[in-house]
Amino acid sequence: MRLLIMGPQGVGKGTQAERLCAHYSITHIATGDIFRDNIKNGTALGKKASSYINKGELVPDEVTNSIVEDRLGKDDVKNGWILDGYPRNAGQVKALDEMLKRLGTPLDAVIALEADRSVLLERMAKRAKIEGRSDDNPETIKARLAVYDKETKPLLDTYAQRGLLVRINGVGSIESITNSIIAKLDARTK
Ligand code: AMP
Repeated sequence: MRLLIMGPQGVGKGTQAERLCAHYSITHIATGDIFRDNIKNGTALGKKASSYINKGELVPDEVTNSIVEDRLGKDDVKNGWILDGYPRNAGQVKALDEMLKRLGTPLDAVIALEADRSVLLERMAKRAKIEGRSDDNPETIKARLAVYDKETKPLLDTYAQRGLLVRINGVGSIESITNSIIAKLDARTK
């Protein structure tokens, strides 16, 4: 199973991605997590990415695309994967299309998690207290949501036109949301 999970910040992509990985025995690839690990470890990549992340801007495509391509070429993703936080703009969609063509591994579905903005803001405020992410402050959150609306949200139409989009209500218990994703994905493969 090869999936994308898309949706605005705070909608629960990471939580649901982890649960889907356990269910389908696939690998979670979250570009935001890769950047945060690199920042924590003080790598050259981390140094390059941190100024963008702290402003709520996207890390340049050439950096992000090559990280994803590298990761998708590794042996531990052969059973499938879920990409979380990528692609985020039209250029990344194109780069991903080319990568998947080269690898001979097409997408099975694109999950779009949806929730009202008030729910997102509330969840991010809660996450800021628990995780202490440097980019979960009001100013950066506003910038990140603006980038989402302008660059990432239109990509849902692209995947809908390809017949890959599975829309899911992201409000409810964690378990009920996972169950509805699995039910919709399994219905597609029957
Ligand atoms: P996330 O954890 O997915 O919200 O990502 C945190 C930050 O990492 C984002 O606000 C961006 O600065 C950067 N980032 C993550 N994924 C991407 C991507 N696909 N393209 C560019 N920047 C990204």
